[in-house]
Amino acid sequence: MRNLLETLRPEGLLPQADVLLAWLKTTDREAVSRLYEAAFRIKNERSGPGVFLRGLMEISNRCQKNCLYCGIRHQNAATLRYDLSEEEILQLGRKAAELGYASIVLQGGERTDNKFVSKITRLLQGLKNIELKSGVDGGTRKPHQAKGLGITLSLGEQTEEVYREWYEAGAHRYLLRIESSDPELYGKIHPNDRLHAYERRIEALEALRRVGYQVGTGVMIGLPFQSEEHLVNDLLFFRQMDIDMCGMGPYIPHHDTPLAVHAHLIPSAERRLDLSIRMVALLRMLMPNINIAATTALQVLSDRGRELAIEAGANVVMPNLTDLLYRSNYDLYDGKPGASVDADLTDSPFARYLQERNIPILRGEWGDSMHYFARQRD
Ligand code: SAH
Ligand code: SF4
Repeated sequence: MRNLLETLRPEGLLPQADVLLAWLKTTDREAVSRLYEAAFRIKNERSGPGVFLRGLMEISNRCQKNCLYCGIRHQNAATLRYDLSEEEILQLGRKAAELGYASIVLQGGERTDNKFVSKITRLLQGLKNIELKSGVDGGTRKPHQAKGLGITLSLGEQTEEVYREWYEAGAHRYLLRIESSDPELYGKIHPNDRLHAYERRIEALEALRRVGYQVGTGVMIGLPFQSEEHLVNDLLFFRQMDIDMCGMGPYIPHHDTPLAVHAHLIPSAERRLDLSIRMVALLRMLMPNINIAATTALQVLSDRGRELAIEAGANVVMPNLTDLLYRSNYDLYDGKPGASVDADLTDSPFARYLQERNIPILRGEWGDSMHYFARQRD
């Protein structure tokens, strides 16, 4: 393999599988630090110097699916189920606006019944009517029709009609992770039925794009049966799908799930963290103008997990706004951060870290993906 450092071009990395694989495998710490520096630099040049904030609301842990890795899967009888009421969610929206947020994420288990779909539609209309704090206007990069809170949804697979209904009601970004882009590995971490079919996931991602959303996807890193070659193909998949946003994080076993029996097969916590940060940096080098999240799961493996991701080119952070009462039941994986994560962030170690490094926190902007605007122009 030729010198790895020579693959770091000012305009990024070429999408070559052998180069990406070498970057995931190298034990040369010095070279990896240079990769992170290059990714951080290219993020500043192509996506701006700041970090965007979105307030995360975990609106319900009821789910019709049974993903084998997830703690809130339907068949996990040990989970105490909750649904935030419409008023509670609107209240969280008002809290977000008071804290100066211009963007929120509504995340929850997957449900496709009419009652749920229309609840979300009504909520979107209500959330769009919340006044933002004075001085906050969604920022300068907003699409021309922008007003009110910027809203990202992460509510699983729905029909194209439902995606359109929610888009028209005011959502404009959607996160739906592919979890693994390899159909065979996908099959090993999901039940083998129509509801969990790989093809449906792909169809849903395509439908989101057709409707007009900024589309985000992502994978879990360090899954049982997953190799570095799988991860390289995930990176190439993101490029091929021309995604606008990405959220990737380490797989963290949940004790009440079927996949946890294979926990002895997964890489160490240190390696999963390291691989996750390398994936962030490599994706930034491949797709300089997309939004990449420094995900919550990183924090489970290290207090500095999110900071490391920012240093490797991530530019979005999603502080949790959900009331602590419910938060503990939104139990996707073991050790999910609870009370220590402060939605206000003003006096947190994370905020201090950003200040020390002169990285502006762009709380009062929608923070849309530059890549989305670039593809609108094309
Ligand atoms: N139901 C929606 C959104 C909620 S789940 C959906 O599935 O799209 C959000 C994300 O949590 C999933 O996409 C998955 O990548 C992540 N997740 C679930 N269980 C996890 C685990 N054990 N370790 C790490 N991430 C997990
Ligand atoms: Fe439900 Fe999402 Fe968990 Fe799958 S990952 S069980 S769809 S909440």
